[in-house]
Amino acid sequence: MTLLASFHCKDERHVVIGALAPVASLRAKAIIAAGAFPILIDNAPLDELSKTLQGLIEEGKVEYHNEEYSKRLLTSLGRSEVDSVVDKVFVTLYQSEQELKEQISADCKRLRIPVNVSDSPELCSFTLLSTHSSGSFHFGVTTSGKGCKLASRIKRELVGALPGNIDQICDRVGELRRQIQQEDALEEVGGHDDDAITTSNLNSLVKEFNMTKQQQITQRSRWLSQIVEYYPLSRLAEISIEDLKEQYRLDKEEGFKKKQKLQRKGTISLVGSGPGSVSMLTLGALQEIHSADLILADKLVPQQVLDLIPKKSTRLFIARKFPGNAERAQQELLEIGLEALQNGEKVVRLKQGDPYIFGRGGEEFNFFTKHGYPPLVLPGITSALAAPVFSNIPATHREVADQVLICTGTGRRGALPNLPDFVESRTTVFLMALHRIVDLIPHLISEKNWRPNLPVAIVERASCPDQRVIRTTLEKAATAVEALGSRPPGLFIAGNACNVLQEKGDEDWVVEEGHQEPKLEGILQQLGHQVEQERAQSANLEACPQVSVTAK
Ligand code: SAH
Repeated sequence: MTLLASFHCKDERHVVIGALAPVASLRAKAIIAAGAFPILIDNAPLDELSKTLQGLIEEGKVEYHNEEYSKRLLTSLGRSEVDSVVDKVFVTLYQSEQELKEQISADCKRLRIPVNVSDSPELCSFTLLSTHSSGSFHFGVTTSGKGCKLASRIKRELVGALPGNIDQICDRVGELRRQIQQEDALEEVGGHDDDAITTSNLNSLVKEFNMTKQQQITQRSRWLSQIVEYYPLSRLAEISIEDLKEQYRLDKEEGFKKKQKLQRKGTISLVGSGPGSVSMLTLGALQEIHSADLILADKLVPQQVLDLIPKKSTRLFIARKFPGNAERAQQELLEIGLEALQNGEKVVRLKQGDPYIFGRGGEEFNFFTKHGYPPLVLPGITSALAAPVFSNIPATHREVADQVLICTGTGRRGALPNLPDFVESRTTVFLMALHRIVDLIPHLISEKNWRPNLPVAIVERASCPDQRVIRTTLEKAATAVEALGSRPPGLFIAGNACNVLQEKGDEDWVVEEGHQEPKLEGILQQLGHQVEQERAQSANLEACPQVSVTAK
């Protein structure tokens, strides 16, 4: 058991007994380096001493008492202010003089003089450390007498790991501490009133806290300790009051954010973003977009909606779905979401249209619920119901259409799905169908009794500035798509409702381009958005859909 301490030895008088062993000169030098004065005792003649010791004696740096040890010397060679008792004793006798060593050790202990006997740890009241010093920095290692070579090796390893400017680091931190203490002292004397606190560099660091002076003083010192604890060590040498101020501010911000995240449980919402246009977003969706840490978006969510995501505070991940990779991309998306939730983040799964209409929303709900994060689900305007509106088709209309069916044109593994039978009074909207339209329509006509001249509208990029509507009949629809090419995403609407507000005339098909949007800058600005020039322009597209192409 040991109490490590560092002695302040300035002007002390230390005795070294035994001048012939090589360690004697090492002790003498160490005593001089510590600011004390070495007194060497031995009965050997001066010329038998090492050259180093002889030199030091000649220079007057070591006092030589050429006589045998006696207890009297311990109480007569010391400083007068401590009644001539010497301050420390170092015994550097050869191994053979065991008896004398034991006697000196006992004498010292009786006189309460700290004693060190080389190679005899059991006779020591203190042992020396293997040390490294650099300016005000001192570093010592002891193995409690188990091996001084080992201690020295360990010391070298540890010193190697320290920054080279360790002395400057000590000086700088010491200086900062002194400044803080000086200010504290001024305050205690009453030199500062409360207003003055804001003008003082150090005090302004904590001025946002409404604290008593005593609290501020404690807070300041505690905070300096934190800096010393966590700042990169090598940088402590140059640290200034200004740096500390900045670090303090950053730490506070960072710490607050981290704490917030760790304290709260992750949350997730499945949010429908509508068919494409920003004007189709619900306020709920906008709120979710604005408060998210991470947004997981479908590939189909259009740029103008993504532009609303606050870039600084929110990360955006877009599903990497491309043909043949859908499953893996979906899994990747779910895993990224789950990881963020486990980190306490707010995740928003932004889905095109409505999350529960052909969007795998139900599966995602199950996945996150199973992992302990049941999502909040916010509906969106589905393209299936928005596209009829934007193509001037009332999905239900008295005496024409009394029901609406939303279905898919894509079955499992590319096969046709189970298609519905024909109902004269029904409006049917086919999603994910245009790429299969060539197989789909003949099947509807021949297998499900659909009327070939039933009015049909193909609506692509509904609600976007480049929206296109093709009006035709069921039997001509595939030919029209082949002739005009596709502009995904698109759907087709079949039923008598297609003819209610707009007739196509005698043509095989008519094409209408464009889409009119309400102007949004005003309301978006009120909601705090910076409307980008580009988006404002596209939202301003003039006029109603225009008939631009007629075929045959
Ligand atoms: N959840 C979405 C549908 C996802 S399935 C919704 O509720 O709208 C994807 C299909 O939706 C596309 O193949 C296309 O048929 C249709 N679709 C999506 N957005 C569209 C749009 N702006 N215009 C026309 N069809 C669209």
